[in-house]
Amino acid sequence: MLAELEKLQNEALAAIPLADSDQALEALHIEYLGRKGRLRKIMGELASLPADQKPAAGRLANQVKQRIQSALAERTNERGRTALTPAPPLDITVPGTGRKPGTIHPITQANDELVEVFARLGFETAHGPEIEDEYHNFEALNMPPDHPSRDSFDTFYIGGPGEDSGLLLRSHTSPVQVRVMETQSPPIRIVVPVKVFRPDTVDASHFPMFHQLEGLYVEEGASFADLKAVLGMAMQATFGGFDQHIHTRFRLSFFPFTEPSAEVDVSCPFCSGGGCSVCGQDGWIEILGAGMVDPEVFRHVGYDPERYTGFAFGVGIDRIAMLKLGISDIRLFYENDARFLAQF
Ligand SMILES: [Zn+2]
Repeated sequence: MLAELEKLQNEALAAIPLADSDQALEALHIEYLGRKGRLRKIMGELASLPADQKPAAGRLANQVKQRIQSALAERTNERGRTALTPAPPLDITVPGTGRKPGTIHPITQANDELVEVFARLGFETAHGPEIEDEYHNFEALNMPPDHPSRDSFDTFYIGGPGEDSGLLLRSHTSPVQVRVMETQSPPIRIVVPVKVFRPDTVDASHFPMFHQLEGLYVEEGASFADLKAVLGMAMQATFGGFDQHIHTRFRLSFFPFTEPSAEVDVSCPFCSGGGCSVCGQDGWIEILGAGMVDPEVFRHVGYDPERYTGFAFGVGIDRIAMLKLGISDIRLFYENDARFLAQF
């Protein structure tokens, strides 16, 4: 009888791993372990064995039953795993996914156009760090710690609560001109097209991050007339066509780092100054801030203000892009909506 049990076990363990369907496994279960199965049949003979052989035969019968059960369970698991991870069918007739060609972001387009206009006027491009120290962002630009003009530039400081690292995200482009003047002697003729940061409340025309282009021109004898000439030509190239003359208008203003300072308007290129919705029926659009560099700024970088004069100007790149492309909400630039960006 022991030999019969061994034979049964060997046959079952050989057949189970070959079962390739649920039905085949079920059939094996019935054949070996079922109520009328082969194991039951052998065990039926247990009663007729001599008493001293019964315990050993009973133990072996139980072991055989357990081994067959676990072999069946293992094979069932194995088949389940295979069913869950079928090899991906390959359909070579499905069209490819393809990639849409990108477009240049409207801010970058406006940036590149402005840089090119000023390059034609002899201005090189300069860059500087986005994380600035307070000295370059404020003090070197004639904005001492308690000066009220710092309020409107109060920006994002770097560091934990209560920690004063003296570092901040630059709030304007002017720290770059300081860095250039610290390392170069006049004549200087640069534009600085960069990203700046201010804690502005977000609305259609304000965003905490935006782009500015600043220009700096320093040499012996530079005058306000040079400033007006350079900005007049640059605005004509930026907004004017062959048949449209762009006028500029200078209004007195204040900036801590220039003296005298001016807000610069251009005649509206959309209505030629007649009045429309873009210029608010005014005929003029405010575009630039400009002025002659304050002698105090030259002293900070070691230039002799008796010998050198210069002018600086700043323009919002986002604003230029909005005007030229007819976009009324600055937030659209930063939402990464491909449907918007693909139009330009
Ligand atoms: Zn207009």
